[in-house]
Amino acid sequence: MPDFKFAHIPSLENWIILAPRRAKRPDIHEKRGAFCPFDPGNEKREPEVYRIGGEPGDANWSVRVIKNKYPFAPIHEVIIHTSDHLRSLSDLSVEQVKLVIESFVNRFNTHLRQGTVCIFSNSGHDAGESISHSHSQLAVVPKEVPIVVPSLEEFLDYRGEHLLVKDFKIVCPPYSQWPDEVWIVPEDRGKLFGEITYEEMEALAYVLRRLVWIFEARHGQDFPYNFYIYPRRDWYVRIMPRAKIPGGFEIATGIFVNTQDPRDTMQFIKKHFFEEEEEKIKLSPAEYRRGV
Ligand SMILES: [Zn+2]
Repeated sequence: MPDFKFAHIPSLENWIILAPRRAKRPDIHEKRGAFCPFDPGNEKREPEVYRIGGEPGDANWSVRVIKNKYPFAPIHEVIIHTSDHLRSLSDLSVEQVKLVIESFVNRFNTHLRQGTVCIFSNSGHDAGESISHSHSQLAVVPKEVPIVVPSLEEFLDYRGEHLLVKDFKIVCPPYSQWPDEVWIVPEDRGKLFGEITYEEMEALAYVLRRLVWIFEARHGQDFPYNFYIYPRRDWYVRIMPRAKIPGGFEIATGIFVNTQDPRDTMQFIKKHFFEEEEEKIKLSPAEYRRGV
């Protein structure tokens, strides 16, 4: 069979993707000394479709985008956040995260006419990551396949608690599906992600990196999380720490049981967002579990 195949679920406005070849992709998450295809020196082996820094094909890049070797969509790319084999977005400078966002914008606009451009990140093994080198992905979903994801409509008259940082509102919606879920909502509403300004890129880089940083302090340094950029008009970014694995009830009903009050998450963010990073002690997952 081909690498992937979309199949409609007849009773739902939803689809599945059958992609058995992806089961063969290497899982080098925790293997020390394992070959990392995202490291510099592999530019010929993994040809790029976009880069920032250096010359095409050389090893002097800051951000590089390659095709996913195990695609599940007609266009499926990997955005490598840095040439350093670093695990976390919070290990990068704000300037570097801004280059990552600039790459997202370039790839989003490149593929805009091909379908729904979904940019997402899996960080940590329990969040679906198979290579621990910091990266995100972009997958284009064909236009006829709907995406089932909340929109910002509910925020039109949002008066609830939030934190305003530069051009963005940080919000923990009352209908959060995941514990410690957080949304980053631009003040300038109604745009496509690809229309983000240079100033907004810088502000988003700061906000995104900071949120990952403080969640690392809360959940342990290698805590699993996902984020995605809403692909349609009125974009937002949603970060979901993956402290909880959806159970049978969620699968049976589509209704999530959230064990964390979003108001507490908002309080946590407000308390720690502007803290000096030097004061932060990063705990490993083992230390976190021990309750250090
Ligand atoms: Zn690497």
